[in-house]
Amino acid sequence: MRNNFLSKIFRNKYFLLVMQLITITTFFILISGSLYVGPGNNYKLTKILQHTNLPNLLVWSYWFSLIVIIAIFFGRFWCSICPMELVISIFNRFGLKKEPGKFIKSGWVITILYTIILIFGIHVFLIQWIPSRMALYMLSLLSIVIIVSLIWEKRTFCNYICPIGFLLKLYSLFSTIRIKNKNQEVCANCKTKDCISAKRHYNFMKRSCTSNVNPPDLKYQTDCILCGQCIKTCPHDNLKIGYSKPSLKKIANLNFSSSEIAFTLIIAGLVAWEILFKWEVARGIYLAPHYFISNLFNFTGTLYKIDKALLFFIIYPSVIFLIFSLLMKVLSKKSLKNCLGNITVSILPIIVVMHLLSAILIMIEHSVYIKLAVSDPIGLNTANAILNKEIIINKAELLPWLITLVCITLPVIGLIISYKIIKLRNNNKAQKSIALLTSFVYFALYEFSMIGWRFDLIEPFLKTCH
Ligand code: SF4
Ligand code: SF4
Ligand code: SF4
Repeated sequence: MRNNFLSKIFRNKYFLLVMQLITITTFFILISGSLYVGPGNNYKLTKILQHTNLPNLLVWSYWFSLIVIIAIFFGRFWCSICPMELVISIFNRFGLKKEPGKFIKSGWVITILYTIILIFGIHVFLIQWIPSRMALYMLSLLSIVIIVSLIWEKRTFCNYICPIGFLLKLYSLFSTIRIKNKNQEVCANCKTKDCISAKRHYNFMKRSCTSNVNPPDLKYQTDCILCGQCIKTCPHDNLKIGYSKPSLKKIANLNFSSSEIAFTLIIAGLVAWEILFKWEVARGIYLAPHYFISNLFNFTGTLYKIDKALLFFIIYPSVIFLIFSLLMKVLSKKSLKNCLGNITVSILPIIVVMHLLSAILIMIEHSVYIKLAVSDPIGLNTANAILNKEIIINKAELLPWLITLVCITLPVIGLIISYKIIKLRNNNKAQKSIALLTSFVYFALYEFSMIGWRFDLIEPFLKTCH
């Protein structure tokens, strides 16, 4: 019943197009509501404005959190209504349609772009805090999408450049929705293969798949952006979208490329930043090397921010990944790349589950600003009123015991899935033991921080240190 409903929606000629028109209109409304909004040089006001400006609040606290949550459970649904996909499908009809080169296809563009966004965009230019800069970021993204679509063929941007797409691809490994064929024989006897036909790549409606996958026989559902075009294109009505049990065996057999390992490593750093920072003690330990290096080299301003971001997103996760991978390499005699890939797949469930937790917490924590942001969408007056204590923000949590329960349970769920994947992946005893050790250490790091944060374990920690 649910599958039929979904298939009907995806087969409908206009539904996803209308959704994309809605999201692209929203995209421009968000830009116009933030383009001229900035706090000047007032740092304290900036910190508040990120929550009181409605477009900023919606993009960073709700849109980003929701697409992560949806991808984990239902796959790349965001991609099916993403306004950029609409822009791509319009512009690449008139473009040069070049085949992307080896470097673009390597996946390193995604990793490099994401690193630049995290380090320079978020930490140096504060696109997450200052609404006008968020708007410029969104406009830059749109320009890149247009340029890429005018030069390269098909969905080059989605397939090889979009970091969000790659993040959703990674997380949708665990999702339950995918495109399936109804009858294999129909496909086997199909002469026209309209779902992959090159003649149909640039049709606006009834397009063949431009994500370089074979719709009736998807190896991993993660490469499919759920655009529904193949369903509409199939002349035999032989494709549907429906429920499919996530296969841990398939995840266990994943072989990550170097660029994918690097991307996952950066995501691990991002998630650690969002989760571990909640407990003051973990934050202090985490920040200590950054303060030490900054003092030693007298880093201020931009250098201070770059040092901080490099430590959190690249150096810390690299050290953790490398220590365990080298240990695995020594004991198992496998190559370092093989061991890095093994460690990445082993802890992926914990990363995903902790990102899910982070997204849930962000949405709950920032919900106190929704009413204020709706009543003053630009948010400058509200931010000033909060700064001058004319408005008091009550951050008391609704159902705190439930949040505590979720914070403590989710890392355990991540560990259990990790354990199952490690068991399925490793025949080599040494690899299995190190993978298990890594995932347990990684789990303990989060679990301990969550317990510390929820039960406010500062005093006991200090006593233990003494
Ligand atoms: S891959 Fe990126 S650009 Fe493409 S549809 Fe998904 S989010 Fe949009
Ligand atoms: S999905 Fe449709 S178009 Fe594609 S091979 Fe099968 S029958 Fe042919
Ligand atoms: S298989 Fe291709 S055409 Fe079909 S929904 Fe997925 S991305 Fe779109």
